[in-house]
Amino acid sequence: MSDLSTIIRDEISETGPMPVARFMALALGHPQHGYYTTSDPLGTDFTTSPEISQMFGELVGAWAADVWHQIGSPVAFTLVELGPGRGTLMADALRAASGQPGFAKAARIQMVETSPVLSRVQQATLAPITTKFGYAEPEWINSVDQLADGPLIIIANEFFDALPIHQFVKTDKGWREQCVVETDGKLAFAPSPTPVPGGVMLAPSLKDAPVGTITETCQAGTAIISELCQRIANTSGAALIIDYGYTRSAAGDTLQAMRKGKFVPVLENPGKADLTAHVDFQALAECAGEGTTAHPATTQGQFLLQLGIAQRAAMLKQGATPDQAEAIDEAVRRLTDDDAMGTLFKVLAITAGRIDPAGF
Ligand code: SAH
Repeated sequence: MSDLSTIIRDEISETGPMPVARFMALALGHPQHGYYTTSDPLGTDFTTSPEISQMFGELVGAWAADVWHQIGSPVAFTLVELGPGRGTLMADALRAASGQPGFAKAARIQMVETSPVLSRVQQATLAPITTKFGYAEPEWINSVDQLADGPLIIIANEFFDALPIHQFVKTDKGWREQCVVETDGKLAFAPSPTPVPGGVMLAPSLKDAPVGTITETCQAGTAIISELCQRIANTSGAALIIDYGYTRSAAGDTLQAMRKGKFVPVLENPGKADLTAHVDFQALAECAGEGTTAHPATTQGQFLLQLGIAQRAAMLKQGATPDQAEAIDEAVRRLTDDDAMGTLFKVLAITAGRIDPAGF
């Protein structure tokens, strides 16, 4: 039994059934035993688009440079990444965007990261790039509350899927919050014995859902997006959110655990497996209030093709060996094909009014 498993059981025996969101927050972010607090999982447990190919970060960098032009090439703005993993996306983006005169000098870089392990990896990845291309030293912050004033260009790849979700389950007594309990010495899911508190809003379309239906909300995600939208409305900029998920809110249990590239049971070994939930892009887009526009979400495949991944691949292949050329083609396929990441992954841009972001 992992240490975190014991901590979770103790908390359940003291305070009763533990909401799924609390379980997920502890499993991923417990200060001593959380999955992201203790490990660098990229490449062992799962792989992300920027780790597949430099083209991904380069195209995102070109996207950011285009937004910067569209907001009037301000001499000072902040480039932000939420949950930057190994820093690979930011490194490739900075290198690509440095071709735009004035961009590197204008950019303040803020990395929003809670994992000390990954922050160290990001520092090592970025140091040579920022020095080489004339960027200021990046800053590391824990939360979007600490974002700098002024225009913001924000990037988030596979960040929102790691935020804790609440699950609600329809029982014969009505909707209940889905919780984690201990039964026969094992952690198990069970609906809360008490009704869902007033104030929790479930979609009206769920009113007649059959018993057993599960639905999810991600308050942590909508709170972050709402904060970013307010900032963008006040001081201009844009946010680009890439993740796996769905463009229309829908019921369903999408909580999953992954270890060493394989799905494993969600409640087994908390802190040792990655836990994620699909992102509800409609819920995020609905946070865009006055002064911001949520551009209808597209697929990762469409987005990368529109930004010119085929042309970028052709350029890279010019100086490549046959093996390298094959690897470049394979990366394009993985990033854009419908049977790989092309359709499952969606892209949402929320921008200040009048910005027409590339790729949408
Ligand atoms: N964007 C990267 C990594 C995705 S993994 C890539 O595409 O490769 C998720 C990242 O989000 C990790 O860096 C993890 O440490 C970070 N993270 C998870 N929860 C977080 C939170 N609440 N606040 C900030 N960062 C978080």
